Amino acid sequence: MAPPQSTDLYRLDEDWTEEQQLIVEQVRRYVDTVVLPCIGEHHHRETFPEEIIAGLRELGLFESIAANELDACTYGLISRELERGSSAVRSIVSVQGSLVMGALQQFGSKAQQRDWLPRLGRLDAWGCFALTEPDFGSNPAGMETRAERTADGYRLNGAKCWITNGVRADFAVVWANLEGAIHGFLVETDRSGFTATPIKGKWSFRSSETAQLFLEDVDVPATALLPGATSLGAALKCLSGARYTIAWGAVGAARACLEETIAYLKARPQFHGKPLASHQLIQYKLAWMNTEIVGMELIAHRLGTLRERGRLAPEQIALAKMNNCRKALEVARTCRELLGANGIHSEYHVGRRMVDLETVLTYEGTEHIHALTIGAALTGIKAFG
Ligand SMILES: Cc1cc2nc3c(=O)[nH]c(=O)nc-3n(C[C@H](O)[C@H](O)[C@H](O)COP(=O)(O)OP(=O)(O)OC[C@H]3O[C@@H](n4cnc5c(N)ncnc54)[C@H](O)[C@@H]3O)c2cc1C
Repeated sequence: MAPPQSTDLYRLDEDWTEEQQLIVEQVRRYVDTVVLPCIGEHHHRETFPEEIIAGLRELGLFESIAANELDACTYGLISRELERGSSAVRSIVSVQGSLVMGALQQFGSKAQQRDWLPRLGRLDAWGCFALTEPDFGSNPAGMETRAERTADGYRLNGAKCWITNGVRADFAVVWANLEGAIHGFLVETDRSGFTATPIKGKWSFRSSETAQLFLEDVDVPATALLPGATSLGAALKCLSGARYTIAWGAVGAARACLEETIAYLKARPQFHGKPLASHQLIQYKLAWMNTEIVGMELIAHRLGTLRERGRLAPEQIALAKMNNCRKALEVARTCRELLGANGIHSEYHVGRRMVDLETVLTYEGTEHIHALTIGAALTGIKAFG
């Protein structure tokens, strides 16, 4: 029998520099030795995987982000490799790295950057990004959280929902309506009137902490305003950065599902002692999945090139996020099915990956919202309302 093929049929990994390939290997080793051995148990128990933090710190990823040293494709490859382990773990990078550090880098004052970026980079401090509200998810423009000016700063009132890392965060980037325009504020979580309550009972992203935030007459100084974040566009710009990592991460999740499934199908005989992998209908499904994954990776690859050229448009990110999340979920569901009954057991990772991808499909803009962004770019007609 011919030796097994890599699932990288188009040899896309050969395009990366030696340095990028070394980083991929390093992150892959971290995922194999640190993330995968513990993540299933945390998913089961609905607990945050504290033991992954030291290794994540050692990778130096957040310090590179803080120092603006990470090129777009390397950032994408790291996201892909982390999501080979867990979407919830990759999400730590998207939230801390792209949403929080990204907000400070793009819109923060020099003092905010100096006070927080080094600590965030060392993972000695955590931030969260508080945009979504109980009644406003896809349409954040309607948000009810309000900021009003006081003698020496601002007073914030409102509630935020589904906020990743909201409980462990040292500060929240809170988006609030100030005199008719949405602004970003850096709000320390120990301020009087600020409460974070964990959301328990999720069946997806169980190893990720998610919180509801309540702001009741939270007073912040004038320096809490992110000076460059004076419209919803600023929040959307941060989201674009995070969606970029999501598009790459989805490739890793799908590849991991496919590779686990191929190994399973080769080892399990059915009908006349023949391995499941030898049946034609099964090979058809493997071929379909690998074709989709190659397509997803080509999109991510191109997105990286556009980002490096500074030419990334919202509709390009929308297309990548929409396509890659949907396809990754379809791949995970198909793998779940091909594992038969074992596909619903936690001994295998596909079930966890599948339910986590349901969150990935929904958060940071649902499929419909990204389709509407693409539709607006194609027709010039905004059809959101
Ligand atoms: C685990 C998890 C972590 C999250 N982390 C964060 C975080 O850190 N920070 C943060 O701010 N938010 C976070 N979110 C929130 C997430 O971004 C929102 O859930 C998402 O934007 C969708 O909003 P919604 O849930 O209110 O759905 P809704 O807006 O109520 O949408 C429900 C359905 O209606 C559809 N829909 C809505 N409007 C339209 C329309 N105009 N046309 C057609 N269909 C439409 C949607 O596509 C969707 O299918 C997180 C969510 C989850 C699940």
